[in-house]
Order: sequence, then C-alpha cells, then structure tokens
Amino acid sequence: MGLLEKMLSLLAAGTMVLSGALDEAAPQHNADGTLFLLNREYRVSDAYQPEDLVLTDVLGRERIRELRPEAAAALEEMFAACKAEIGVDLIAVSGFRDYAKQSRLWQEKLKSVGRNVEKAQEYVAPPGASEHQLGLAMDIGQRGKAQLSSNFIKTEGGKWATENCWRFGFILRYNEGWESVTGYKYEPWHFRYVGRELAKEIHDANVPFETWLIGYRVRVLQEMMKEDGP
Ligand SMILES: [Zn+2]
Repeated sequence: MGLLEKMLSLLAAGTMVLSGALDEAAPQHNADGTLFLLNREYRVSDAYQPEDLVLTDVLGRERIRELRPEAAAALEEMFAACKAEIGVDLIAVSGFRDYAKQSRLWQEKLKSVGRNVEKAQEYVAPPGASEHQLGLAMDIGQRGKAQLSSNFIKTEGGKWATENCWRFGFILRYNEGWESVTGYKYEPWHFRYVGRELAKEIHDANVPFETWLIGYRVRVLQEMMKEDGP
C-alpha cells in the first residue's frame, strides 16, 4: 500500500482512530509532554500549570529555580558538567513562571516601550505564550557575568552551554536568524528542555523547534502507518 492509500484507509477507519493517531503524532499538542510547542500562535490558558514542579539544586535565587523534575535533574547535570569541564559556574536566572507573573512582565515591558506590542514581543512573551509556564525552560547566565543579555554568548559559560546543552536534553530555542519562524530575537540565554533522546537530533538539524516538529510529525505518522500496514 502506498502512503496515500494508507492515509485514506486510516481516514476510513473513522474519526476516533484518526484523532488518536494524530494526537500521538502531534506531541506539540500535549501540554504535559516534553515536545509541547508553545509560542505566540499556540498558547496555554491562565489555568495551566505543571503539577510536579521541583527546585533545581543549582546556583540561583530560590524562587526562580523551579522546573519539572526531569528538566531540573538534567539542568543539575549540565551545570556540574560545565564546572567540571571548563571550571565555570553557570547560574539559573529564570525558570518556571506562572501566567500571572508572565502577565506582569508583559505589562511592564509594554509600558516601557510606549505600549508598542511589536516592540514588546521582541523579547518578552505575552501571557500564555511563554515556555517558562511549562516548567521546561531556563534562562541561564554565567555567575558574575552577562545575564539575560546577548553578551552571554561571549562568555565562556555561554559558549559552552550553546555547544553542549543537547547532551543534557536542552536546545537553544531562539537562535540567531530564526526570528521569522520563532517570533523572537536571538536569546543566547534561553534553553528549552526536550529530553535527551531528541535534543541531539534537534541540535544537529540546526533549525527552529517549529520547523523540526513538522518533519518529526510526518515521520511518526509514517511509522504508525507502517505498523498498521497490510
Ligand atoms: Zn527565557
């Protein structure tokens, strides 16, 4: 059976099967999964909050160090590896933020740019559109150096984090030159946890998460159809 026939037979199998298959092939729609896609187009509600936040045991102020457990453990390993490999202390600058906090940040930013929405959203996500609300993103700095600044990439820690984050399941989410896809300017400090299994692949692909997910979805659907085959 060709791909088209398989797709048609999948369609014929009924909407329940189809929606089940599409859900599985669309991890970007699963808010509790590590591949959930969150941006200005796909948002979460003010009620969304991960149930299982923990404090990561890394440098940084306590109230901003919360992440989901898997991401928290990975971040600890990443910071320890940076210290061991190049002797540099990374620091957690901002992890989980709830909807209300993101709203405050957004309002402050809007105010500071004369309520120019375009300008405000260059770096700050509107409430419901920030990966920080997922508990899977951490803004990282080098202790005593550039924080939340494009100069972070000029620090030893910034270079190391960019080159090595995938080893621990993180990707650099808003790279240089990706603005037309991600909607954000270059943020060398913002790292998103996607899990070790796929972080290397996404890193090597060197494309925005949005772009990579399209190919991933097609691949998962094809594999599913192979399994369902004649
Ligand atoms: Zn961030």
